[in-house]
Amino acid sequence: MVCKEKSKGGLGVRDVRIVNLSLLTKWRWRLLLPGRALWKDVLVAKYGRHILTNVDWSGVRIPTMASKWWRDICSLDKLVESKNWLVESMVRRLGNGNSTYFWTSIWTGDVSISARFPRLFSLSNQKESMINELCEYDGERWNWTFSWRRALFLWEEELVVRLRDLLATVNLLMEDDGWKWVPDPEGVFSVKSTYLHLVDELRSGEVLEDGKAMIFDHIWDSPAPSKVIAFSWQLLHDRIPTRSNLAVRGILVADVPWECVGCVGSVESSIHLFLHCPSALKVWYDIFRWLGLVIVIPPSLFLLFEVLRASARNVKIRKGFLLIWHATIWSLWKARNGSIFANESFAPNDIVEEIKVTSWKWSLARLKVPPCMYYEWTWDPGDCLLR
Ligand SMILES: [Zn+2]
Repeated sequence: MVCKEKSKGGLGVRDVRIVNLSLLTKWRWRLLLPGRALWKDVLVAKYGRHILTNVDWSGVRIPTMASKWWRDICSLDKLVESKNWLVESMVRRLGNGNSTYFWTSIWTGDVSISARFPRLFSLSNQKESMINELCEYDGERWNWTFSWRRALFLWEEELVVRLRDLLATVNLLMEDDGWKWVPDPEGVFSVKSTYLHLVDELRSGEVLEDGKAMIFDHIWDSPAPSKVIAFSWQLLHDRIPTRSNLAVRGILVADVPWECVGCVGSVESSIHLFLHCPSALKVWYDIFRWLGLVIVIPPSLFLLFEVLRASARNVKIRKGFLLIWHATIWSLWKARNGSIFANESFAPNDIVEEIKVTSWKWSLARLKVPPCMYYEWTWDPGDCLLR
């Protein structure tokens, strides 16, 4: 994999920058910790109360009178391309539930309950309630009480059942709610863990940048059908209608289609559906095994494309590998749509077979060679073509 040149001995300019960013991050962490302090009061008066309660400041406008120091602190949200790394790094640690918003804080799973159940959130009379205001312990278990603006329809009642299922394992404790610093195994903030985490995050970002232009040059150079390549291209730009993309654009209204079809409880984003989902991982690993490749799955689809390209011994094999990359993306998407719209199962083994058949067809039609030319072991097309 591509690696940036590192300065030998001592810290390079880039390292110093990352140390500074880690030190700035410490202020964000300290603002979230409980306890009053004069410096906090001064900042709250200047910039607003959200700085004591919110991790995500990405939507907040920075006042024109803000100092350079404050601007730098605000810009931490946008440090890593394509995601807010702070939101992923600072998560709520649930204690007695008395300072965590039930609907809008992220405290179970990786999204807020309002994002997972937008319809119920819109109907709730308790939008501002803390967790402990909604539940009570009866000596045996925690009972949740919800209040709605109007009587619920049957399908909305079903959402409540799903919500209650999600809450079934919640257990409030004696101690206060707090924050957990994800990059540290103990959950406690340190500049060192921040530095190491940022080095990782920023390095993969840079490789992505370097690689992107080249990948977009190569992506059309494939015998896959053009509608398939166009889809892959949109996927790499994160412009396909996954559930999270629809939600961001406000198109998704029903609550039900939030979860990924390949696993339980994850939001369907592009990177999840095509790479991080356990089902997608199984598909990729099966495909690699089929191709005789030993590959550790990289953190992005860009890098996966690049790793496959680099694994090929010659031009013909490279074309074959990339054809299979496209076929894998395409088959995952088809299976996902089949699962959502036609109630079909989303089974990794079936998807792998589909990929084999599809790439075999494309290869014969467009490369005029049977795919076994570039596979590393003997292939028996009868396996697939008879299905
Ligand atoms: Zn999944």
